[in-house]
Amino acid sequence: MSQPYDLHAHSTASDGTLSPTALVARAHEKGVKVLALTDHDNTAGIEEARIEANRLGIELVAGAEISVTWGAQVVHIVALNVDIENAELQTGLNRLCDFREWRAEEIGRRLEKAGIAGAYEGARRFAKGRIVGRTHFGHFLIDAGHAKDMRQVFKRYLVRNKPGHVSGEWAAIDEAVGWIKAAGGQSVIAHPARYSMTATKLRRLFGAFKECGGDALEVVSGSHSASENIVMASHARAFDLLSSSGSDYHGPETPWTELGRLPDLPNGCEPIWADWHPAERVSNA
Ligand code: AMP
Ligand code: MN
Ligand code: MN
Ligand code: MN
Repeated sequence: MSQPYDLHAHSTASDGTLSPTALVARAHEKGVKVLALTDHDNTAGIEEARIEANRLGIELVAGAEISVTWGAQVVHIVALNVDIENAELQTGLNRLCDFREWRAEEIGRRLEKAGIAGAYEGARRFAKGRIVGRTHFGHFLIDAGHAKDMRQVFKRYLVRNKPGHVSGEWAAIDEAVGWIKAAGGQSVIAHPARYSMTATKLRRLFGAFKECGGDALEVVSGSHSASENIVMASHARAFDLLSSSGSDYHGPETPWTELGRLPDLPNGCEPIWADWHPAERVSNA
């Protein structure tokens, strides 16, 4: 079941637990031939990952997972094959990282009010890269005995109407797609089955994304069920969008996802990588 393409994965540059080097080494070990590093709202791990990928002879796709606010929802857009030197992209990502920094301090203040001291500093200790995300607060809260696992942390503390929730404005969908285009990349709606939206709302999202020049849906995701993959394949066809596939790997602590451990794209999908290589370069292993 190992796939040659895994186009969604995180390192310590965001909320993953493996360094970019260790992530690439693990992908290689698991049989991945083309890996996209897609850290939240930054590309700081790409250069390190590229060095290890060159050493091991696997292909590294420069990417990011951009946080977007669409109406009242947060949606993630995966960028693939971007020029990480592009000023428009980096200016956009820096804005989101500045917001993340403020949000992290605010989450800390709110948890403090709820009787949990030292959360900001604690989350900072778990964040080895530039960004502090909710997952880092999660690691701190579990470590300090406030919850037993990540699922419980989010449910008790970090989602809407809970003490550590802070809402805010991420990028607009057309901004995110615009930054990706400016950097010569392709944009993908990440894990589309994971948003709590009705089918009607989801179709509106896909329509809006298509209208601003979006390229693909992440039809196969490590966070999708087999039937969700099929549903998303039919949406991709209906909206004339390409299909992507990625594990959304965050590290060995979540053993239910693994690099490259993904089913095939359902029949009738046009893979986003169809025109990336001459056909013979990456075979189905
Ligand atoms: P952030 O971008 O900092 O708001 O954090 C979002 C990240 O938190 C996602 O990319 C996941 O890695 C993680 N996450 C979100 N919801 C959950 C959940 N219910 N359980 C575990 N991890 C979650
Ligand atoms: Mn994450
Ligand atoms: Mn995501
Ligand atoms: Mn992700």
